[in-house]
Amino acid sequence: MIKPGVPAPGFVKRIGSLVDRRRRVDFRALESEQILNRLNDPRMPFGWTVNPYRGCEFGCRYCYARPTHAYLGHADPEDFESRIYVKRTETDRLLARLRKARESGEEIALGAATDPYQPAEGRFAVTRGVLEAMRRVPGLRIGITTKSPAIGRDADLLAEIAASSELMVNFSIASLDAGLLRRIEPRAPRPDLRVAAMARLSAAGVPARLFAMPVLPWLTDREPGLRALFRAARAAGAREAIWNVLFLRGDTRGFFLDFIAREFPRLLARYRDLYAGGSSAEAGYREGVERLAGRIALEEGFPGRGRDERVEAERPARPRQLTLAW
Ligand code: SF4
Repeated sequence: MIKPGVPAPGFVKRIGSLVDRRRRVDFRALESEQILNRLNDPRMPFGWTVNPYRGCEFGCRYCYARPTHAYLGHADPEDFESRIYVKRTETDRLLARLRKARESGEEIALGAATDPYQPAEGRFAVTRGVLEAMRRVPGLRIGITTKSPAIGRDADLLAEIAASSELMVNFSIASLDAGLLRRIEPRAPRPDLRVAAMARLSAAGVPARLFAMPVLPWLTDREPGLRALFRAARAAGAREAIWNVLFLRGDTRGFFLDFIAREFPRLLARYRDLYAGGSSAEAGYREGVERLAGRIALEEGFPGRGRDERVEAERPARPRQLTLAW
């Protein structure tokens, strides 16, 4: 049970001092026994996670990591964007953990919860430290997910890692409509900059993939917009495309629907109906998006797969182990 405004017991001792303050954002240290965590969720296509930061300045309205800030004592969901926690990397411990991940044969997801190339990375370089350790452990399986062209800083290092490990950089781009995304992902970099970064990494020999996620009902789910996105990503060298319709889990649901009520009030009742059954959109809608995106992906030259198929195909069978920690 989380008390509003009070850090959960497991976090009290981990919260460190203020390490920087910029404009509207405070950065605070967060001690972690392990920066690379084991995951126990057979629905996910990876077995390990690294999230160098908690909180994210990009401030996407649909972000499912936002409610986790309550564990750090933040009652206001907006604090997720302005109270950022910076983890530390102990190289020897990380190297040992990376060897364990290699033994497991399972993928390490860097940035599955928060963006590893958010603005904090320019100041603290925690992600860079993780990549430097990964370079020293060949034979890993790594997936990096970002919305930021700042990943271009590490193009050379990523190319080195790609030469000795299985690496895929997932560019999260829901639409090419910059004006629309400015409202939905207020401080995330423009989509054209993400596409340009994808082209840069691809040219450097780093495999890149389009994450066309989340597909937002009646906002980013029309054929012309999806086609333009898939086409641009393919031209930028993306090898695969994956898509998935918006989930509205837990507290994210209220936060996102409040946003829809303010910004797109004509859609509110339709969203409520579509998500009346729970965190997933109604099955018929999801199947329609699946057919549409699958067709576009194939027509644009991708070996397209939806997220569920990817989980089936990529997750090796393994016993349930620890719960997610980060
Ligand atoms: S970039 Fe990712 S972590 Fe950051 S706010 Fe958006 S969805 Fe959340």
